[in-house]
Amino acid sequence: MNLHNRRQFLRLLGASSLGALVHGCGGGGDSGTGDSADTGDSGSGGGTTPVTPPVVNVSGHVVVVGGGMGGATVAKFLRLWGGQNLRVTLIERNPSYTSNILSNLVLNGQRTLSSLAYDYARLRDNYGVNVIQGEVMGIDPVARKVSLGDGSTQTYDRLVLAPGLEFDLMPGLTDYQTIPHAWQAGPQTALLAQQLAAMPAGGTFVMTIPAAPFRCPPGPYERACVVADYLKRNKPGAKVIVLDANPGIAAERASFETAFNTLHAGVIEYHAAATIDSIDPVTRLVQTNLGSIAASVLNPIPPQRAPRLVQDAGLVNVNGRWAGVDVLSYESTAHPGVHVIGDASATTQPKAGHIANAEAKVCADAIVRMLAGQAPDPAPVTNSACYSPITATTASWLTAIYHYDPASRTMKPYVTGEAASITSGNYEDMFPWFNNLMADSFG
Ligand SMILES: Cc1cc2nc3c(=O)[nH]c(=O)nc-3n(C[C@H](O)[C@H](O)[C@H](O)COP(=O)(O)OP(=O)(O)OC[C@H]3O[C@@H](n4cnc5c(N)ncnc54)[C@H](O)[C@@H]3O)c2cc1C
Repeated sequence: MNLHNRRQFLRLLGASSLGALVHGCGGGGDSGTGDSADTGDSGSGGGTTPVTPPVVNVSGHVVVVGGGMGGATVAKFLRLWGGQNLRVTLIERNPSYTSNILSNLVLNGQRTLSSLAYDYARLRDNYGVNVIQGEVMGIDPVARKVSLGDGSTQTYDRLVLAPGLEFDLMPGLTDYQTIPHAWQAGPQTALLAQQLAAMPAGGTFVMTIPAAPFRCPPGPYERACVVADYLKRNKPGAKVIVLDANPGIAAERASFETAFNTLHAGVIEYHAAATIDSIDPVTRLVQTNLGSIAASVLNPIPPQRAPRLVQDAGLVNVNGRWAGVDVLSYESTAHPGVHVIGDASATTQPKAGHIANAEAKVCADAIVRMLAGQAPDPAPVTNSACYSPITATTASWLTAIYHYDPASRTMKPYVTGEAASITSGNYEDMFPWFNNLMADSFG
């Protein structure tokens, strides 16, 4: 398929998402809300957009750093859309990826971490991605080369960075080994679940939320709800104290206000505009603008920034924390030839897995066009959906579609929507949405 058809494909992508959104708003139990692109090749993308993947034969070598939501997707779609002569190398430090999405359900025992793990076999075997397990230690954007921890190097024509983000140390803490943030699914999530299980009846779970922007805007409020629901059933008299640095609930406000003020009233105590002066990891005392707060279990979600690798390469140029990008291609505004997608970049879109997946497709399309000597699509569309469990059987959702705005050169929200109510139907729809998104990203 030619470049013109690829453009139509990306437009269709927006149109199909809009259809899903309208259906979702109608409360009709749509399971395809999360399908941002059915590739048409394997039937695993969710089935709402029956199109054939466009293919343009270009040659070159694209190196992708980070095999999470953004990196896995961009590697797959570069191979799908770039033709046989486009070599794609994905470098990921871990043998498999553990999804953050749904990881709050590990805290109440509804999911295991292993049920959230995705390996790279399909990207390698079905799509021809060259997968290297290794740690990228440095980037030379002038020589167009990355260095790995084992001393090897990879040269590239274009580099895509999708390394997620890193966490600041909160005042008083030297690490998160005993006081976990669990904002990267893995051992800290398991530790937090253990601490919750061991918490006494009548205990206090204290969590902090950093000032926006942070990974998954509804995520902390979702966690407060899941934990409150678990405590009500397992730890009578226990409560959840939420210390939010933001002036108010930062996402899905109507749903979470309902949850905090009705469903979980008397269990969740929410404080906006909270400041954290220090945390004592031994006594679990938190010093705040509200006074000293004692926790039985403490869950500080720290401020976040693009990882050291991105900083050291000179790519961080937004608020000293994030990598600035041109959202037509996700090419860095600091270095040509380097693209940054997902949580590490600064855009007007949320730091979310679904958006990382959508950004990856726009980026893959732009790279193929650029390698073919053409300009990126001037009118990309992205979409995001997110389900938030509120109890062990109910959920809400949030969705948005973004269109490119040439005047501001940003992605502007075109349609946004939030669930009208918290229902068991939403909860059931959450799993097909998740499965579609992960199949679309990891093959
Ligand atoms: C509790 C929770 C719930 C969430 N729920 C949702 C949700 O419902 N919907 C949603 O859309 N989003 C959700 N998110 C957000 C989502 O997980 C992130 O926004 C998304 O994972 C970002 O994708 P990414 O590709 O930028 O980074 P990641 O998915 O974190 O991937 C980064 C990858 O890069 C690798 N890496 C990093 N540095 C290197 C290096 N130097 N060398 C080699 N490999 C490296 C890492 O090992 C990792 O695999 C949630 C997050 C949390 C914490």
